Amino acid sequence: MRFAVTILPGDGIGPEVMDVGVGIMVHVAQGYGLLLDLTTKQVGGASLDACGLPITDDTLEACYGAQAVLLGAVGGPRWEGLPHDKKPERALLRLREALGLYTNLRPARVYPALVEASSLRPEVVRDTDLLVVRELTGGIYFGKPRGYDHDHGWNTLVYTRDEVERIARVAFQQADLRRKHVTCVDKANVLESSQFWREIVHEVHRDYPHIELVDLYVDNAAMQLVRNPGQFDVLLTQNMFGDILSDVASVVTGSLGMLPSASIGDEHALYEPVHGSAPDIAGQNTANPLAMIASVAMMFATSFNLPEAAHLLEQAIEGTLSAGYRTADIATPGATVLSTSDMGAQVQEAFDHLVQTQPVSPTSGLVESE
Ligand code: NAD
Repeated sequence: MRFAVTILPGDGIGPEVMDVGVGIMVHVAQGYGLLLDLTTKQVGGASLDACGLPITDDTLEACYGAQAVLLGAVGGPRWEGLPHDKKPERALLRLREALGLYTNLRPARVYPALVEASSLRPEVVRDTDLLVVRELTGGIYFGKPRGYDHDHGWNTLVYTRDEVERIARVAFQQADLRRKHVTCVDKANVLESSQFWREIVHEVHRDYPHIELVDLYVDNAAMQLVRNPGQFDVLLTQNMFGDILSDVASVVTGSLGMLPSASIGDEHALYEPVHGSAPDIAGQNTANPLAMIASVAMMFATSFNLPEAAHLLEQAIEGTLSAGYRTADIATPGATVLSTSDMGAQVQEAFDHLVQTQPVSPTSGLVESE
């Protein structure tokens, strides 16, 4: 099998975690006999510096032509003063819109070895294993009119029936693969758009009667996420609420550097860590690459249809953490603190060890080494 992957390293720690991500992706692909055609393009601040645009048509073309896109992170203080349409972050919205990436999957899981790394108490975070299903191409981030003048600032929050139906279906289907529970997060007590959202989610739910559905206001959801995150399985929510809640979920897991994501449409998919370009630690080779590696795992499961490879990579991350290896952001007393690149090497080693000790089943897709 041959797959085209477009690589967008971006800014700050983006290229640092991308080096690790690409190294592991190529290594795992070899093990499964996949051929990857990799094309690297600039995005965000790097693209602005090179040609004055946060993303070019050439980069977009390369993404259209690929089975999957892997993105590092964009943005940084150097470009903060630019007008909104010129900011590096505009590239993300352009990509999501152009590729039709309406589903954003953000799993947040607390690895047993990291229960002490969270700023919350171990007994609170211990059983966390949730998935935020965030609508990604509608809502207030895309609604028009938007703008500001001297006396006003305005944005528009609109959802269409089709947009809500298709993301609700994704949430119920994901829940079907997990613990069969969906929490619909909205602000239906205040926003008409949320009342509309909630009613449609309940209509779609009739097709999934074996999935439990509960409603929760977003303010309560934020509070419950830090009070008792273990109660959640799938959280279904609109664009802006999902953006905020998944960052809250990062506190639970210990660091933003632990959270992967997949943005999926009908024809394209993009994988990226949830974190930003982390200008405060950029260039130091100290960033946590595990969110990037876990994003690569999601790519193997979803775009390459190799869930077993994804599972082994996740096990490799877990094994590396259990062996006491950490990056600085998740360091705990007595742990061995590694650089970004060394953490990548450790996970790759753990993956190889798992492959060698794993019996090769006919359905695994693993290529037997000589
Ligand atoms: P950030 O995620 O870059 O950093 C927040 C904090 O988390 C920082 O202290 C940072 O050091 C830490 N952190 C983040 N990722 C880490 C990792 N992998 N390892 C260790 N520590 C990590 O968020 P921010 O500081 O609010 O934003 C910085 C820039 O990134 C801004 O320009 C913002 O717009 C942009 N941003 C981009 C994306 C994206 O590309 N998808 C997402 C969020 C923010």
